[in-house]
Amino acid sequence: MRTLNDFNFKNKKALIRVDFNVPLNDEFKVTDATRIEAAKPTIIKILEDGGSCVLMSHLGRPKGVQDEFSLKHIANKVEDIIGVETKFVSNCIGAEAEAAVANLEPGKLLILENLRFHTEETSGDRNFAEQLSKLGDIYVNDAFGTAHRAHASTTVVADFFPENKCFGLLLEQEIKSIEKVMTTGEKPVLAVLGGAKVSSKITIIENILDKIDHLIIGGGMTFTFIKALGGNIGNSLCEDDKMELALDILKQAEAKNVKVHIPTDAIIADAFSNDANTKICDISSIPDGWMGLDAGPETIKNFNNVVLNSKTILWNGPLGVFELDKFANGTIELGNSIAEATKSGTFSLVGGGDSVAAVKQFGFENKVSYVSTGGGAMLESLEGKTLPGIAAILK
Ligand code: AMP
Repeated sequence: MRTLNDFNFKNKKALIRVDFNVPLNDEFKVTDATRIEAAKPTIIKILEDGGSCVLMSHLGRPKGVQDEFSLKHIANKVEDIIGVETKFVSNCIGAEAEAAVANLEPGKLLILENLRFHTEETSGDRNFAEQLSKLGDIYVNDAFGTAHRAHASTTVVADFFPENKCFGLLLEQEIKSIEKVMTTGEKPVLAVLGGAKVSSKITIIENILDKIDHLIIGGGMTFTFIKALGGNIGNSLCEDDKMELALDILKQAEAKNVKVHIPTDAIIADAFSNDANTKICDISSIPDGWMGLDAGPETIKNFNNVVLNSKTILWNGPLGVFELDKFANGTIELGNSIAEATKSGTFSLVGGGDSVAAVKQFGFENKVSYVSTGGGAMLESLEGKTLPGIAAILK
């Protein structure tokens, strides 16, 4: 696996695919610079070697050239965060871009205009990728968030750098974190899968059953399992057409010696609202008109034990409707347990959509080992798929 530290960038121009798809407010100011910060170590290493960086990214989903999606809006923020002069060029290919690259001095940054102003980016056009390839000596992919897309800048362009291509430090860390859960992690390995639906997690569950020792199932997903097992779930979320699948997962887990932990109680509510009436209820005896919206106290205690006895933890999906204060407790308590385990040496990876949002919202970001920067890319990795952006560097 070729990574950034396998290269010396002295007097070289690095063409880096970053993920600067950051949120902007009405005045086109960056409101969350996490993704720019995440690319900083890679950029700094190249600059310290004595090289320069040509940064390419997409921003949003423009239809053709649309000023609101221009990467010019973020150039100042990049300059602030990296602390070196940052130029911007208003096209990502062609004579203007090539001239800007030719004039780029060591120690400086150049941001190319939004790749998706050209439809050839997302279609993975070879000619467009070849034009991009003229803008650097070494290709670096540091964009995990788009590594599951076979786009020109994430995948096809790598073909034009047969020897001179590598992963950036961020992408390297993402790959290693997933490997820790899937192959190299210390046992017992625990996966906590919460969230709304069984259907969106099924491929992950089936793929990871071979790699884990314990599986915690939580969140709305729980109730499809409970109903399949003969329990009363009232008006809780349920996918009736996935009940057989749920039973099959439990059978597969047993055959593979994976211990499955399902909630035993829930906080139930008479409405999907912060103003609802609530009570604690056995998970299999939820009355009609009520729905389970969070993990109950006994469940939290049980899950805490499992977490504290694990050496490697993957967490994907909340244990309840954490967006409503009244039903956030289960997810917060799980976060506390994982933070405590991490403090005593357990490796913990949080990834995929809503769990990342929850971890940030409740301030666990620096209390777990790693928070993935890629939603879809993370989920596809856990499903066992080889991401095209990763394969292109390994090729
Ligand atoms: P996912 O994207 O599949 O990880 O699902 C995340 C969503 O699941 C969040 O928006 C939660 O509010 C929701 N969720 C978690 N627990 C429940 C539950 N018991 N009932 C309904 N929705 C839930």
